[in-house]
Amino acid sequence: MAPSGPGSVRRRCRRVLYWIPVVFISLLLGWSYYAYAIQLCIVSMENVGEQVVCLIAYHLLFAMFVWSYWKTIFTLPMNPSKEFHLSYAEKELLEREPRGEAHQEVLRRAAKDLPIYTRTMSGAIRYCDRCQLIKPDRCHHCSVCDKCILKMDHHCPWVNNCVGFSNYKFFLLFLAYSLLYCLFIAATDLQYFIKFWTNGLPDTQAKFHIMFLFFAAAMFSVSLSSLFGYHCWLVSKNKSTLEAFRSPVFRHGTDKNGFSLGFSKNMRQVFGDEKKYWLLPVFSSLGDGCSFPTCLVNQDPEQPSTPAGMNSTLKTPENHQFPAKPLRESQSHLLMDSQSWTENTANPGKGKAGKGVLV
Ligand SMILES: [Zn+2]
Ligand SMILES: [Zn+2]
Repeated sequence: MAPSGPGSVRRRCRRVLYWIPVVFISLLLGWSYYAYAIQLCIVSMENVGEQVVCLIAYHLLFAMFVWSYWKTIFTLPMNPSKEFHLSYAEKELLEREPRGEAHQEVLRRAAKDLPIYTRTMSGAIRYCDRCQLIKPDRCHHCSVCDKCILKMDHHCPWVNNCVGFSNYKFFLLFLAYSLLYCLFIAATDLQYFIKFWTNGLPDTQAKFHIMFLFFAAAMFSVSLSSLFGYHCWLVSKNKSTLEAFRSPVFRHGTDKNGFSLGFSKNMRQVFGDEKKYWLLPVFSSLGDGCSFPTCLVNQDPEQPSTPAGMNSTLKTPENHQFPAKPLRESQSHLLMDSQSWTENTANPGKGKAGKGVLV
């Protein structure tokens, strides 16, 4: 199992190559700074008022873009906590048991006290052979990172990082600020772009920067707006990209909206309760990444229906710890403040009708 020499060299080379898209974006960003701030604002703009307003607004957007991009790249993805790893004895048992019912029984016993609600397509406990752990809900193994990632959304080559529970908010802000950055450049560059084609610009190198800047900004605006729009839809439905492609399977069957708690609560799960942090790339998502409230939990005979724990302190990845009653606590944060949830629990057996109440 030990990596061979050439294998590890190849892996290291691959790791270096993975940085190429990030270097490309950084170079493009560096050039756009030079083209916009120097060539357009300082060299080409004649009106001082326009110059000052454009430079201030541009630097604000530039700073937010770089900050959120940086956080998306360098925030380590969160992995399942120790409780999800099998003990040595359980691993040995699994190795001895062949695949099949006995194998599942070992996993079922190991997962007994874990807040696991999702299953594989065949109804089995979700287990990662590679990491030798029971996968928490919404957790997936990333083949690029070679790790199980909590609430994995996708592996993004443009940030050379897995987008998941720990940095999904940063990724959304990165999309939002990069889109605003491109739209702002395109809008303020437009009149100079038109002048370029009507020979209204002096014949300097600035005119070519102005032209390419508009093309690049317009092109990225189109692709970023579709990607950002898609992720806004995902957040509103409380889905990850992976879940949009394959709906999560619960004990009682597949449910594409199994994690959706209604628009406002779905938003708060990603952005947090405090509005002042929503637009800043600082971690404010709710929960611990291992367990997620689901509106279907009432239907599960193995789980208590009334959330009990109220002191959910799990706010940051650094503060990552496993709660004594994980699902109940993470539920409490999003669900307990809703009277409608309490009303809903008084009326079990209605199943999915609860979703409408929670919205
Ligand atoms: Zn794994
Ligand atoms: Zn990954």
